[in-house]
Amino acid sequence: MPLTTCPDCEHSVSDQAPACPQCGRPMTAQTTERTSKSLKAQLLVFVLVLCSGLLGTCITIMDGETLHWFWVVLLACGAIGYLATQVSIWWEHD
Ligand SMILES: [Zn+2]
Repeated sequence: MPLTTCPDCEHSVSDQAPACPQCGRPMTAQTTERTSKSLKAQLLVFVLVLCSGLLGTCITIMDGETLHWFWVVLLACGAIGYLATQVSIWWEHD
């Protein structure tokens, strides 16, 4: 039976095992990878939103104009979404 190494505790695990017997990490690599990829895409979207908000805020401040609510909302959404995605990633890898 082929063995694989658990990425969390480096315990040898059968590649047929649904989870690591040592630490309980799910060994269905495909599922984990798929989820991680969608979370990474989500993270990228929020980083872009956050960057746009920052850019808009900087341009407004440099022009000496009053900050438009649109940039504040964009900044807030980007920051909240980014943090929420980071928490989901942390949660998934726990
Ligand atoms: Zn393990």
